[in-house]
Amino acid sequence: MTARILDGKAISARIREEIAADVAEFVRLHQVTPCLAAVLVGEDPASEVYVRNKQRACEKAGIQSHLHRLPADTSEAQLLDRVRALNQDPQVHGILVQLPLPPQIQETKILDAVNPLKDVDAFHAENVGLVVQGRARFLPCTPHGVMQILHRSEIPVAGKHVVIVGRSEIVGKPLANMLVQRDSHLGPQAVNGTVTICHSRTADLPTVTREADILVAAIGQARLITADMIKPGAVMIDVGINRTEDGLVGDIDFAGVADVAAAITPVPGGVGPLTVTMLLRNTLTAAAAQQG
Ligand code: NDP
Repeated sequence: MTARILDGKAISARIREEIAADVAEFVRLHQVTPCLAAVLVGEDPASEVYVRNKQRACEKAGIQSHLHRLPADTSEAQLLDRVRALNQDPQVHGILVQLPLPPQIQETKILDAVNPLKDVDAFHAENVGLVVQGRARFLPCTPHGVMQILHRSEIPVAGKHVVIVGRSEIVGKPLANMLVQRDSHLGPQAVNGTVTICHSRTADLPTVTREADILVAAIGQARLITADMIKPGAVMIDVGINRTEDGLVGDIDFAGVADVAAAITPVPGGVGPLTVTMLLRNTLTAAAAQQG
């Protein structure tokens, strides 16, 4: 293996220390503790784990978190009522509705009902629009985590061909919108990429992925990206989390690709920890904005 391992866990730990210090300073100045309300509908085991991780991370950073559990047969109207109550609650600074929601509930209806000032996932249409225009209120957590890994590993994006495989609203699309900006809170080197987005209808995926200086895989298919699909010396960011018989694996064939790439994020321990970290940052940002 020749590739440098981009240790998301270590990067995440450093950022969480910074956030915890900022939270402590915020509490000292305002006598208010940032508070995140997490809404979990049903008993999806993966969602349970994600919500638990988010709550634990909040606690360690000095952020309060409240879990609102609703049964799997909750109606759309009932969930809307809960979201509206949290919108009105001055003690709650950030609201997170854990996805996926049960089939009787339309996700966009719920996400659009969250007060945009408390929308720490940045899923509300208003916040998506602000990201596209390069004046984000909150940066979406997983794409922001990808930016932080690159930035803190001193891998510039400016001028690079970034190929993103996956066009979801949560990862692929917002990341593309962020990396094509002219400037960012991390400076112009962290953005200004030449971005290509691929998806399941892309003709001849390997030809496109071989063009990438930086390849981001956000697909949800175990080890789909193999060594023959990449340019030697490329940087590989693996967002995928796939449960297999071998445990958790990414969308990139780590063992094969690590001999060809210059750098690669592992799964687990790559992008995953950063997602929760950036949620903590957004919760503090929300609390600060609501404090005036
Ligand atoms: P989605 O299922 O919403 O999107 C997957 C995307 O991959 C779609 O755009 C789809 O194309 C594309 N795709 C699927 N198969 C292929 C293929 N054979 N060739 C090219 N493109 C393909 O997934 P998410 O974006 O929500 O998640 C992607 C992965 O990232 C998952 O493994 C998920 O668990 C993980 N994830 C990890 C996070 C973290 O914190 N590390 C956070 C969020 C997600 P099309 O649009 O045409 O269907």
